Parts: sequence; structure tokens; C-alpha cells
Amino acid sequence: MPPKTKKPQTITDVAKAALYRLSELGLPPTPENYALHYYDILGGTPPGGKPGNAPPAIDPHLLEEVDRILDSVADRASQLAQGLNTRNEEIRAKVSDLTRAEEKQAMLKLLASILNSTDSILATTEDTYDGLLVTREALEQIKTELQETRRMAHEDALTGIQNRRGMELALAREVEHAHHYGTPLSLAMLDLDHFKQLNDRYGHETGDKVLVHLATLMRQAQRETDVLVRYGGEEFLIILPGTDLNGAWFVVDRLRATVTATPLQCDNNKIATSFSAGIAQLKADESGQNLISRADNALYEAKRSGRNCIKIAAD
Ligand code: GH3
Ligand code: MG
Ligand code: MG
Repeated sequence: MPPKTKKPQTITDVAKAALYRLSELGLPPTPENYALHYYDILGGTPPGGKPGNAPPAIDPHLLEEVDRILDSVADRASQLAQGLNTRNEEIRAKVSDLTRAEEKQAMLKLLASILNSTDSILATTEDTYDGLLVTREALEQIKTELQETRRMAHEDALTGIQNRRGMELALAREVEHAHHYGTPLSLAMLDLDHFKQLNDRYGHETGDKVLVHLATLMRQAQRETDVLVRYGGEEFLIILPGTDLNGAWFVVDRLRATVTATPLQCDNNKIATSFSAGIAQLKADESGQNLISRADNALYEAKRSGRNCIKIAAD
């Protein structure tokens, strides 16, 4: 198995790595799952994305623009090569005449003509250079737009943290890494307590603000390597790389205490909220899907135990 940082070299490597990820995640090798991970490993977005969970479409004008730019680069490169070739032959012929010339006047004329040719080479390369600079700027802008499209495909629009699609990719990477290097990996599944009542009492819009509030508190508690995910309506996941159950407990319980102690101030109301959580640590050879499932069962136990608490998953 390739280490996390090493990119697969060939298309076959990419295909193998994608299939490996699916088995790690315990996902069936459907064309959609396969394409999602295949393009993630390649560092791109699947053309057309996943039905029902499609990423923002890439603007077709953007692709036309890329085509246009690539054509113009190819044209410029070929013009430059032709131009240089012609001038080169001219200079060669003049230098050959120069070696045969006997009169000073003729020599000076040939030298002037050689200088002319070199000037014209300089002008051609400068023109090409300027043109390529403009092309480069255009490509940089397109790259930024594509990165933005890719980011949006993996982000939850309300809270700005990863969505389920982003989670699948991040979890696959982290599970692969943990198995390969033998490092611990934990996962916490959080669910807001009595969120339906909160919506009923204050309205859906305020409910949304509470979701954003929780995401903000999660971000404040987040360590650099943690991945925050909005898993569903009022369910969240935290992927905790390099963290065992003790560490996960510490992080999630500190967050739980912060959330309980930090009501959302909204329209003269102080809206208190809390969450229950289940935490699980990845076992040897366990898939990401199984890890989620164990954390989910532990979350269920936390709800059954009265909420606003954390339970550790059974093996
Ligand atoms: P429990 O403590 O057992 O989790 O109770 P609960 O009320 O939180 O759980 P339940 O599953 O009964 O209700 C979840 C509620 O979350 C219902 C749904 O309207 C609300 N919800 C889901 N997504 C959103 C959202 O995006 N915005 C808002 N405001 N509410 C949402
Ligand atoms: Mg729920
Ligand atoms: Mg809930």
C-alpha cells in the first residue's frame, strides 16, 4: 500500500488505490463510489459528480476557456519554434557567407544583417514571453475557480465545515493512513439533544443559527488535524487522527462542557443547547464504515442514558 503522501504513479495504481479505499471504508465498489475516490486520488472532481449528491457543476465556459488557452499556448510554442528555426538558418547562412567574405564592406553588411536577425529573435521571444505571462495569469484564475468549485463540493453550505461527501474522502484518507502507519484514529458522532423541540419553540431559522453556533464552537476546540463534518441535519462527526479513546474523550468532553456553558444569544433569548456523543477508536483492519457504525451505537447509548453525555463504543 502506498504511504499517504505518495501519489500513485500510473492509472492502474490509481484504480487499485481507489478500490483499496472502498474496501477500507466498507463501501460497495459501485461506479459512483469508485469514481468519487478515483478522482479524489487523482486530485480532481469526477466529471458530472455523483447523482443525487452532485458537486457544483464546472462552468462549461471555464472548460472552453481552458481549451482556448491551451490551443493558444500550442500555437505560440509552434510559431516560436518555426520563427527560431527560420532565423537560425538565416544566421547560419550569413555566418557562412561571412567566413568567405573578403571585403570589409561586405563583412560589415553581413554583420549588420546578423545583428538584425538576432534582434528579431529577441523580439520574437519577448513577444512570446509576454503572451505566455498573460496566459499564465488566465490559467491561475481558472485554477482558483476550480479549487473553489472543488471546495464547495465538499463543504456544508450552512456551517462551512465538511459535508458527507468531504467526510467520505477525509475518513478514507485517515483510515488508510492509520492502518498503514499503525497510528491511532478515533471518531466522535455528535447529535444535538431535543433539537426538534428547539425548532418548535424558536423556529427553524433560529435552529439553523444553533447549528452554526455549534459548528463555531467545534472550530474553536478543533486541533489542526481534526476534521469536522456535518453528517446530517443535527448530527456531526469529528475525525480525530493520531488520537486514542482517552484523547477523544478529553476533546469531546471539553467541547460538551463548552457547548453546555455557552448558550446562543439570539433576539434577547439565551438559547441553551447540548449534545450527546458516541466515540470509537479504529481497530486493526476495521473499515471506516464500521467505525462510524460503532460510534453511532455508542451515541444511541448516550441518548438512552439521559443525553448531554458521551459513551464509548463497544468493540
Ligand atoms: P434527540 O435528543 O433524541 O436527538 O432529539 P431530537 O429532537 O434532536 O431528534 P429528532 O431526530 O427527533 O429531530 C431532529 C430534528 O432536527 C428534526 C429536524 O427538523 C431538525 N433538523 C434537521 N436538519 C435541520 C436543519 O438543517 N435546520 C434546522 N433548523 N433543523 C433541522
Ligand atoms: Mg438526529
Ligand atoms: Mg438530536
